[in-house]
Amino acid sequence: MKDANCIFCKIANGEIPSATLYEDDVFRVFMDLGPATKGHALIVPKDHYNDLFELPEETAASAIKLAKKLGAQIRDALHADGMNIVQNNGAAAGQTVAHFHLHMIPRYADDGQKIGWQPREITPEKAVEIAAEIKG
Ligand code: AMP
Ligand code: ZN
Repeated sequence: MKDANCIFCKIANGEIPSATLYEDDVFRVFMDLGPATKGHALIVPKDHYNDLFELPEETAASAIKLAKKLGAQIRDALHADGMNIVQNNGAAAGQTVAHFHLHMIPRYADDGQKIGWQPREITPEKAVEIAAEIKG
């Protein structure tokens, strides 16, 4: 299932060329063209799913397996000091391309990048209340 207007459908299926690290029947892994750091790559399924919640379980599991294997390869080849595996769902969460993708972002000591959030205060009682709200 492809989306004719989706840039990642076109890249993943080879209609638009990319700097490809890895390809199989289900995925293409290519270099991000707005990299956070040297080696920033994206794991992208060839079929169109908007986000993680639309992805079949088996494809989700395979994406994590690929991140483990290729993330280690990137880390070793580029002598990275760490690695962020990042995945955004929805514009509010920073997703800019509405086709599921997993970021592999190698990190280097003092690379000047920041991936994270500002921690806020919560009481243990409030945390229990929110957990109950989610569990329903
Ligand atoms: P997100 O904000 O999680 O949706 O990430 C989208 C990522 O796709 C960003 O890191 C962009 O730099 C990257 N990106 C957008 N268009 C392209 C493209 N044509 N080729 C490679 N990477 C892209
Ligand atoms: Zn797509």
